[in-house]
Amino acid sequence: MKLDDSITAISGIGEKTAALYRKLGIFTVNDLIKHYPRDYEEWEDIVPIGELRANQVQAVRGMVISAPQTLHIRKNMTVTSARIKDASGACDITYFNMPYVRNALQPGKQCIFRGRVILKNNRIAMEQPKIVSPQEFEKNLHRLAPIYPTTKGLTIAAVMKAVRAALGGIDCYAYGHSLADRGGNIRYSIQNDYMPEDVLRKYGLLDWHSAISRIHFPADKAEMLAARKRLVFEEFLFFIISVMTLKDMASREVNDAPMMRVDACGDFIDALPYKLTNAQRKVWSQIEEDMCSAHLMNRLVQGDVGSGKTIVAILAIFMCIMNHSQAAFMAPTEVLAMQHFETIAQFARKYNLPFKPALLTGSLTAREKRRIKESIALGTCNIIVGTQALLQDDVDFYDLRLVITDEQHRFGVKQRETLAQKGLQPHILVMSATPIPRTLAIILYGDLDISVMDELPADRLPIKNCVVNTDYRKKAYEFIAKEVAQGRQAYVICPMVEPSDEVMGNQPALENVMDYAAKLKKELPPQVRVDYLHGQMKPKAKNLIMEEFAEHKIDVLVSTTVIEVGINVPNATVMLVENAERFGLAQLHQLRGRVGRGEHQSYCIFINAAGQSDSMERLEVLNRSNDGFFISSEDMRLRGPGDLFGIRQSGQFQFAIGDIYQDAGILQEAQSCAKEIYEAYVQNNKAPIEGHEGFWRHYEDIIAAEVEFINI
Ligand code: ADP
Ligand code: MG
Repeated sequence: MKLDDSITAISGIGEKTAALYRKLGIFTVNDLIKHYPRDYEEWEDIVPIGELRANQVQAVRGMVISAPQTLHIRKNMTVTSARIKDASGACDITYFNMPYVRNALQPGKQCIFRGRVILKNNRIAMEQPKIVSPQEFEKNLHRLAPIYPTTKGLTIAAVMKAVRAALGGIDCYAYGHSLADRGGNIRYSIQNDYMPEDVLRKYGLLDWHSAISRIHFPADKAEMLAARKRLVFEEFLFFIISVMTLKDMASREVNDAPMMRVDACGDFIDALPYKLTNAQRKVWSQIEEDMCSAHLMNRLVQGDVGSGKTIVAILAIFMCIMNHSQAAFMAPTEVLAMQHFETIAQFARKYNLPFKPALLTGSLTAREKRRIKESIALGTCNIIVGTQALLQDDVDFYDLRLVITDEQHRFGVKQRETLAQKGLQPHILVMSATPIPRTLAIILYGDLDISVMDELPADRLPIKNCVVNTDYRKKAYEFIAKEVAQGRQAYVICPMVEPSDEVMGNQPALENVMDYAAKLKKELPPQVRVDYLHGQMKPKAKNLIMEEFAEHKIDVLVSTTVIEVGINVPNATVMLVENAERFGLAQLHQLRGRVGRGEHQSYCIFINAAGQSDSMERLEVLNRSNDGFFISSEDMRLRGPGDLFGIRQSGQFQFAIGDIYQDAGILQEAQSCAKEIYEAYVQNNKAPIEGHEGFWRHYEDIIAAEVEFINI
C-alpha cells in the first residue's frame, strides 16, 4: 500500500464508505493516517452504582433486577429498559432501538455495564451502556482508545479498524521498502525517516513510523505524548522554515513603482459615518507609507475582533485603485468573501468610489468564472474578492499591486511563487484577529512587519456575558425570543453538525446543529425564523443562508464555528454557545466577537454542559476580560500541560495537530531547529547538506501541497 493510494486500497473500504470518508476530507491512505484522534478515552475502574455521576462515561458491575421491557414510543423508535443494582444502589439502563438486548438482560444476571450516565427525572440512569465481559474490561482498563472525528454512518470503531489496516499495510515499508511520491518515484524510506537523524537525537523525537502508529494506538499516556511531540515538532518545523523562506524572498523585493499619496483618501475618511480610532489612523499611515516606499509592503495588522480592520483594508484598496492598479482581497471562507464583496460594493455606491469589484468563488458556474476572469485580465474590474483560489494559475491579472488576506493563516511560499511566476509582485497586507503574544508573532509572522490595532471604536457598549449550566436553557430561549421581538438577531453555536451515535469519551454529549435547529423551532415562538449553517453544506447554500441572515430574513442562526471568523452582522446581539467547555477560550472570544458590532447592547451566553468546576473556572475568564491576548494566555495557564486533545484552539493557526498556545515550548524548539537547518542549507548554496536530502524533498512536497485546495 502506498501513502497516496486511495483509501479504497484498504480492505473493507468500498466506494460507499469512501464517500463517507471524503466528507471528512479523507481521500488517500495518507489522509487517513493523518486523521489524528480528537481525543482519547481512558477506561477507568468500576465504580459503585451509588457513586455514578451524571454526564460521565462510567462502568459499574451490577445485577439485573427487573425483567427488561420494550416500549414503542413512536414509529421506528423503541426503548428497552431494565434496572440493575449492586450493594451501593440501583439505576435504570435504557437502549434505543435495540429490543434484542433483552436477551442479554435476564434478571439475576451479573454484568459489567459501561456507558454514559445521565440524570433523568432527577434519577441517575445509564444510556446505551455497553455490556462488557470481564476479560474485555480487563484488557481495556487504563488503555487510551482513540476517538476520531466521524460523520453519520461512520463509527469510531470503523475508523479505528481502517487506521489499523492502513498502518499494518504501510508497515512493510518500514523494513527495506520505500515510500513513493505522487508520481510513483521512490522518495525516501520510512526506515531512514525524512527527519535528519541528528535532529531526532538532539530533540529527543520518535521516528515517523513509531510516532504515527502510537498517536493512534498508544499503550499509555507517555507514549501518546512522545508520539504527539514528534508530530507537532515536525509540523511547526516545516511551517517555520517556510516563514524563513518567505522572509528571504521578501527582503529582496524592491518596489519598482511606488504609489502616490492620494488626497481623496482623506476625504473618504472624513465622509465616513464614524471617526476612525487613533489606532486605525496610526495603522493606516503605516500602510500608506509602506506602499509609497522603495520596498514592497509585507505587513501584518493584528487587531482584536471588532477593532475595525476592514475599513483600513478598504482604504488601502482605495489608494491602490486611485493609483490605477488592481487589488485582491482574500478571505478564508466563501461566506466571508461574499460579505466583504457586499461591503465594498456598498461603499462604492454610497461614496461614488471608482470601485469595480468582482467576486470570484468556487460556487460560480464555469461560465460566470470565465467572464470574471476575463474582466480581471482586461482590467475592467479593479477589486477582486474571493478565497485563496484567487491566485490560481489560470487567473491573469491586468495589474495586480495589492493583495490583502483577511483572517487567513498566512500567505504561503507557493502562493508567492505563483504570483512571481506571473510577473506579479504585489504589496501584501495580512489582517489577523488571532491574539498572539509578540514572541509567537515573531516566529509565526517572521517575514512581516507588525502593526497592532489596540483600540476598539469608542461607541461600543461592552458585551454582557454569562456562563451558565444547561438548566439555564429555557431562560436563554426566552431571552432570545425577547431580543428577536425587538428586532435583533441571534447566533447559536453547536460543536457538531449531526448527531453522533458514539460515546464521546468522558465528556457530556455534544449538541449538533441539525437537531438543535429543529428543537429551537419548537421552543421559540412560531414567528421566529430559525435556520442553520454548517461547513458540510454546499458553498452556494452557505452563502445563501449568510446572505439571508445579513438581510434579516433569518432571526436565529444555528451554526457550527464556520461563522467564527470575520462575519459582521451588527444587528445580531445574542451569541449562545452550547458545549462551551469544548472550545478554546481564544475561539470563544472570536465567536463572541460576532456580536457587539453595532449600537445595541449585546449578550453572550456560554452554556457549560460539563458542570465541572475546572471548566467553569476556565470559562469565567471570558467573563472577566475582553482582551484576546489575556484570554489566550489564561487559557494556556488554566488548561495546564495535561489537557492536550480535549480542546482545540482555532483561528488562523489551524495546524493539524500542533497548538501554538499549548505547544509553545515545542514551537521554541522547532524554531531553533529550523534556524540550524535553514542556515546549513543557505550556507550550502541552497542545497541540502548530506543527510538532509530527504528532509528537503519532504519540504518541497509540503509546499507543493499548499495549493492543493486551490480550485475555483
Ligand atoms: P474586525 O476588526 O473584527 O474585522 P470590522 O472591520 O468588521 O472589525 O468592524 C466591525 C464593525 O465596526 C463594522 O460594522 C464597522 O463598520 C464598525 N467600525 C469600524 N471602525 C469603526 C469606528 N472607528 N467607529 C465605529 N464603528 C466602526
Ligand atoms: Mg474582520
